[in-house]
Formats: sequence, structure tokens, C-alpha cells
Amino acid sequence: MHASLEPRSDKRDLDLSELRSALGAKSLVLDPDLIASYRFDRSNAGTAGMPVAVVRARSTEEVSETLRFASRYLVPVVPRGAGTSLAGGSLAVDGCIVLSLECMDAITIDPQAGIAIAQPGALNVAIKDAAREYGLWYPPDPSSYEICSIGGNIATNAGGLCCVKYGVTTDYVLGMEVVLASGSVIRLGGSTVKDVAGYDLKRLFVGSEGTLGVVTEATLRLRPLPAQPVTLVAIFPDIASAGRAVSEITAHERPALLELMDQTTVRAVEARMHMGLDENCGALLLARSDAGEHRARSEIAVIESISQTAGASEVFVTDDPDTGEQLLAARRMAITAVEELGRVLIEDVGVPLPLIADLVQGIERIAGEHDTMIATVGHAGDGNFHPLVVFDPSDNAATARAEHAFGAIMDLALELGGTITGEHGVGTLKRPWLERQLGAGALEICRAVKHALDPLEILNPGKALPPETW
Ligand SMILES: Cc1cc2nc3c(=O)[nH]c(=O)nc-3n(C[C@H](O)[C@H](O)[C@H](O)COP(=O)(O)OP(=O)(O)OC[C@H]3O[C@@H](n4cnc5c(N)ncnc54)[C@H](O)[C@@H]3O)c2cc1C
Repeated sequence: MHASLEPRSDKRDLDLSELRSALGAKSLVLDPDLIASYRFDRSNAGTAGMPVAVVRARSTEEVSETLRFASRYLVPVVPRGAGTSLAGGSLAVDGCIVLSLECMDAITIDPQAGIAIAQPGALNVAIKDAAREYGLWYPPDPSSYEICSIGGNIATNAGGLCCVKYGVTTDYVLGMEVVLASGSVIRLGGSTVKDVAGYDLKRLFVGSEGTLGVVTEATLRLRPLPAQPVTLVAIFPDIASAGRAVSEITAHERPALLELMDQTTVRAVEARMHMGLDENCGALLLARSDAGEHRARSEIAVIESISQTAGASEVFVTDDPDTGEQLLAARRMAITAVEELGRVLIEDVGVPLPLIADLVQGIERIAGEHDTMIATVGHAGDGNFHPLVVFDPSDNAATARAEHAFGAIMDLALELGGTITGEHGVGTLKRPWLERQLGAGALEICRAVKHALDPLEILNPGKALPPETW
């Protein structure tokens, strides 16, 4: 019999002395102000529960002790990396222990094997920096790469800008140590490049949003550093022509990144960064090739020609690394810049590449129909977009319109054969749409997996899966 899959809201006087003696005072946080600082993530979801404690684990043993305690006393546990989830995945629930992995941040590079061994709290940027010292590179690069942890990246199967060419987090995870809900520790995979022994349980845990186990170590594949990039910016009169250009480009080339920002996003970024971006453009396309001198130039030339044919009014190309980085910084700033316009509901839909123009035009239509500002930015080369639904939370009617627009965008993505989430995860925000995407049969298998690995449903309750009855 499955339990509710919902957070347990009953408050009880939990005696934490047993946990304190197992962990030591350093790892167990009971200060109410500090505890409150672990309630929310970056999803702008207005609601979060109040934890009874925060464990800042310093070792796999401490993670294991925490989960043993939680299983014994049926305490919900919310695993947490850096709290940058945009889907409500790391929101606290009432009466939970927030299990923070931020202190477990060691990184070892083995250049001979071409791997990094990282604890879950290591920031994505720290792994990149450590690898660079050996001429190596960890590619997955969420826009938040300077502030998010590898544990969170694995738990969400994070994507990013260069994933169009280099793939997403799961493509780089060779092995993992995971602590199960019972507190027992398992190892999956290893450091071999190829390994097909048994079911691919690694891939089951990657993207499981802290609901199946807690990642306490990861073995990551590294690549040689890429060649010096050539970067292109194309200005379009409207987003539909930019969308058509993207579908055409992806049919011919595989650039190292292909990102799109609509006019609202460009204006928000310009207001924050004062870079001289064209605020009157309909859309801005950013492309990069790192294929090496001659090949990079010819790849960029094809992208330039396609952009012009699709209606680009201006194209700018640079091989200056600093200028290229500034343009990327502008793109990475998009969500933060739009957040200055109001409260933002962040979408993460994806569609098949030939249907990109249908998606971006449909989003424009939804904005008009719901009289709501929607700024669209995205990893266009992957067909993965982040329409940012902006509203004033003090205006109830505007809030309701924004929520309807948020749902309408997911409906549109599903109608186009796409996905409700390309990289941020289901979290708390997208659960109502999951069954429609997966189908009842696949959802039942997900529930059976959850039940097998976490029968007491203590791990991140209320996330990733809808309850059996709403
Ligand atoms: C400005 C901005 C830009 C962003 N851009 C991108 C982007 O381009 N691409 C992208 O994919 N995401 C992006 N994100 C979203 C976010 O950064 C990613 O989802 C990231 O992977 C979350 O990492 P975190 O360490 O903050 O995880 P958290 O928010 O702490 O947790 C996220 C989920 O992972 C679980 N979790 C965390 N650590 C562990 C662990 N060790 N074991 C098991 N479960 C765990 C949590 O329970 C939760 O469900 C962006 C966020 C922001 C704020």
C-alpha cells in the first residue's frame, strides 16, 4: 500500500538528542534563524514548510546516520545542495530535516583517467576550475554554474548552454556513491568509460530530484579543454524569424551553444548590464563554435548565412575571448535581470527542433491572451526554452492570469510533442502536468520504483511525483 507521497504536516516534539550524539553539535543546526534560511529555493514558490532541524553533513557516515534516524522516527528529509532549484525541488516541508550537502565539497582530479571525483557540495564552477589546471574540462554549464552544486546538478540532471553539443549531466556521470533512505550506502558504476553490467541504476538516480537517495560522491568524466571559440550575435526583427533560424541551423550544424533571448529579456539584461544591446530588436540569437580555427569559421559562416536568410537585420562575429565571454555573461544574467521586473514563474519547456518557431509564436499568443508579460529566453539549440511569466504578486487578478499562462505554456509544449521540463525538474511546480506527459502506465512504474527504494516515503516528499489522488 503506497503512502500519500505528500509532506507530513503533523508537528511533533521530535527528540533530536539521539541525532545530536550521532552527529555532533557542529553538523546539527537548531538555531531558528539559521533553520529558516534553509526553507526556500530560487523557484519563487511562495510556500515552504518549517524544518525541525538542518543537518550540514560532513561525511557519508553523517548522511547515513541522518537517514537512519529519519527512517526510525518517520521524519521527512529534504536533500539540499545550493538551493538554486527553479522548480521548488529543494523547498522545505513542515517538520522535515533539511539535509544540506554544502560542506562536503572536496574535489580530486585524476588526469591519467580523465576523471574528477567530487563530493556533492562542490560547486560546478569549482570542478571546472580544478579540471582546467590539468588542461581538462567538465562541460555541463547551467547558467547558475557559479552558484549550484554538483549534487544538485546530478539530482536534476542539469543542462546548460553548451549541452547542445556536449550533452547534459548524465552523460558525464561514470559512478556514484548514494545513501538510500534506510541509511545503507551503495556504489553505482565506477571510473570505466564503458560499463553495462546490470541495469543502469546510475541513470535512475540522475534526475531523481532527491526522492530516491542522497548522492554523496560522483565520478565525472572530463574532456580536453575546447579550442578558442568564435562567437556570433544575430539580431532579428521578431522571435518567429529567430525561431525559424534555429530550426534551420540545428538541421545543418552542431554549434557549441545556440541561445535565444526575446525583446523583453534583451531590455531587462540591458537595463542591468548596460552593454549596448539593441533594445529594439525582436530577438537576439547567440551562437558559438569551438570546433577549432578553420572549422569554427566555416561553422559560424553557415550560421551567419542561415540567420540572414531567416531575416536577421544584423550579425556580429568575434573571436575575441573577452567579448565572447561578455556576451555569454549577458545571456546568463537573463533570469536574474527579468526577476527585477516583478515576481517570475519560470518555465522550462522543450519541443522537437523543427517546432521551435511554433513554440515561441505560441508563447507570444499566450502572453496576449492572458494579458501577461512573458520574457522568453532559452537553450534554443536544444529546443529548451524558459518563458519567464512576470506578474505583480500583490494583484490577485494578475497572479491568476500568470498562473493560467504558466499552465497554458506547458499545455502547448505537450501539444507539440514536447516536455514540461527540459532541465529544471518537476519539483513541486510541475507535478499536475506529469501524468499527461508520462502516461498512467509510466507514472505507475515511477511510483513502484519510489516505493521500492523509499517505502516510508521520507525522501523529499511532495516533489517530482504527483500524489495518487489530488
Ligand atoms: C539564475 C539561474 C539560472 C539557472 N540556469 C540553469 C540552467 O541553465 N540549466 C539548468 O539545468 N538549471 C539551471 N538553474 C537551476 C538550478 O541551478 C539547477 O537545477 C541546479 O542543478 C540545482 O543545483 P543546487 O545545488 O542548487 O540544488 P538544490 O536546489 O539544492 O536541489 C535541487 C534538487 O536536487 C536535490 N538534491 C540536491 N543535492 C542532492 C544530493 N546530493 N543528493 C540527492 N538529491 C540532491 C534536491 O532535493 C532538489 O530536489 C538555474 C538557476 C538559477 C537561479
